[in-house]
Amino acid sequence: MSESAVPHTTNNAGVPVESDSDSLTAGPVGPILLHDHYLIEKMAQFNRERVPERVVHAKGGGAYGVFQVTNDVSQYTRADLFQPGKKTEMLARFSTVAGELGTPDSWRDPRGFALKFYTEQGNYDLVGNNTPIFFVRDPIKFQDFIRSQKRRPDTHLRDHDMQWDFWTLSPESAHMVTWLMGDRGIPRTWRNMNGYGSHTFLWANAGGEKFWIKYHFKTDQGIDFLTQADADALAGQDPDAHLRDLYDSIERGDHPSWTLFVQVMPFDAAWGYRFNPFDLTKVWPHGDYPLIEVGRMTLNRNPDNYHVHIEQAAFEPSNLVPGIGVSPDKMLLGRIFSYPDTHRYRIGPNYAQLPPNRAHVPVHSYAKDGPMRFDASRATTPYAPNSYGGPAADSARFGDPLGWEVAGQMVREGYPLHREDDDWGQAGTMVRQVLDDAARDRLVSNVAGHLSDGVSAPVLERSFQYWRNIDKALGDRIAAAVKK
Ligand code: NDP
Repeated sequence: MSESAVPHTTNNAGVPVESDSDSLTAGPVGPILLHDHYLIEKMAQFNRERVPERVVHAKGGGAYGVFQVTNDVSQYTRADLFQPGKKTEMLARFSTVAGELGTPDSWRDPRGFALKFYTEQGNYDLVGNNTPIFFVRDPIKFQDFIRSQKRRPDTHLRDHDMQWDFWTLSPESAHMVTWLMGDRGIPRTWRNMNGYGSHTFLWANAGGEKFWIKYHFKTDQGIDFLTQADADALAGQDPDAHLRDLYDSIERGDHPSWTLFVQVMPFDAAWGYRFNPFDLTKVWPHGDYPLIEVGRMTLNRNPDNYHVHIEQAAFEPSNLVPGIGVSPDKMLLGRIFSYPDTHRYRIGPNYAQLPPNRAHVPVHSYAKDGPMRFDASRATTPYAPNSYGGPAADSARFGDPLGWEVAGQMVREGYPLHREDDDWGQAGTMVRQVLDDAARDRLVSNVAGHLSDGVSAPVLERSFQYWRNIDKALGDRIAAAVKK
């Protein structure tokens, strides 16, 4: 680039600056002058160039792409983005959960699988994980669960004793802990993992008929994983390996894709199903509800600025579009509040204006003003109802809140148990019927290694019993391996 082609530096107000390298001083050795406004602007801006990292899912990366419908599922939902042949622009962000910004991508952890679809009916966010299940089933335990995985208040170190203490006192975690300690607990790359909506959602078709839905995004790159030893080595060699892999693959034109399938449960079947279909610690066995193809998501564009598009991306399960609703899954209902709340704190109340978060359709919201508002109030009259042509809800078209019948006393108690509900059964099925001998051996080795690192005697004993409850033989093997 010729010298004349380089733009001259300006301050944030666009005024040309005098120097990139020398502050304004009283004489060459004199003190710096307070009215060197450009110096002060640089220092002050630098001090403020981070937003708080996410309290969970801090470390991640993502890309833009497109979702293309490949099958006709209009009999189940009227949602615009799932209509035959439809193509919808989207954003995906993958992440680890417990680590902070900068921690290695190859730590054993679930991975976030957060999607935002810029549909013609506004943004639809599906904020899932690479796991079909989760550790707890009530949002009142979520904060405790996360604290048990993060750093101790005294040493500021992560602590396996806290982790196993919480898990073994919370038997509903057994299925997810089994999943986490298995091969899929460390994906080889983000491209080599599946994504799941995890929760149960409600779909409604154009005729108003309702269905319960589970989302499964199956990787077209094939499932692949890292062994504990390979992951430990990679953490030292390239802590950003997954971030790098996604970015590089998209740059070289190798666009990763996932095929979306759904499981569909008729609305009335939920109440008598053998498992509670809203319990986030359970799957719906494929044999009961087979996968139905919906479409394919392909990631094809790296964001040109990480902070703007990924760090400030705000995914929220509360972004639902007509034809899609929530279910009685208590975790999902809790997340409906907590996600927008964390964005208001972390980014600011006007986060929805920012490039990754703004809808691709006109917004006619009555939200106005507040910090960093740069998009004028979208309504000409700042209140509703009004007689001056301001937006008015179209309740005739969009008034159905998509729900289920509710009655009963206010209580604080768990879900009513369905026929085969317990905390150990599905985890045991996975150990005995899904894993092969080699995968079971790695599971034993992963668990024994984890338990051999700083877990106190009483928690250790409880952990052996926890694994025996999942599978007696497996628990005995784990106990023997730790004792050895
Ligand atoms: P299936 O045999 O039909 O499904 C088993 C599923 O397990 C596979 O389809 C695959 O899910 C997944 N899987 C395979 N290897 C592993 C692994 N190492 N770690 C985690 N998941 C793995 O049986 P069911 O549907 O009856 O489920 C049996 C058990 O499989 C469940 O208890 C659950 O633990 C696990 N599972 C079930 C899923 C479901 O939605 N039914 C989804 C994922 C796991 P995928 O096809 O999604 O890759």
